[in-house]
Amino acid sequence: MIAGIGNIYANEILFLSKIHPQRRGDTLKNSEMVRLFKTIPLILTGAIKHFGTTYTAYRTVEGEPGDNQNFLKVYQKAGERCSRCRNLIQKRVLNSRSTFYCPKCQK
Ligand SMILES: [Zn+2]
Repeated sequence: MIAGIGNIYANEILFLSKIHPQRRGDTLKNSEMVRLFKTIPLILTGAIKHFGTTYTAYRTVEGEPGDNQNFLKVYQKAGERCSRCRNLIQKRVLNSRSTFYCPKCQK
């Protein structure tokens, strides 16, 4: 059971799942849902392993910044090349949240 997923991790999960951020949940095929559900723990355990993602305020309980920002594939990468297909990563604001994705890989 998941209460919610933060914006940074949602961007990364959708990228790894190859799902466009504007897709509605009820349009996902079974195979896409399976891919999505398998990707969620991969991204979250990776972030935990790197002690979280620090851009500004986040600190570990010891007061140290996390290291996961150095392993992100799309978040804050607008204008950079996609690590999968070399297309340019795009930024779009969806529901007042910055969303980063590869328009070629994520359908
Ligand atoms: Zn791509």
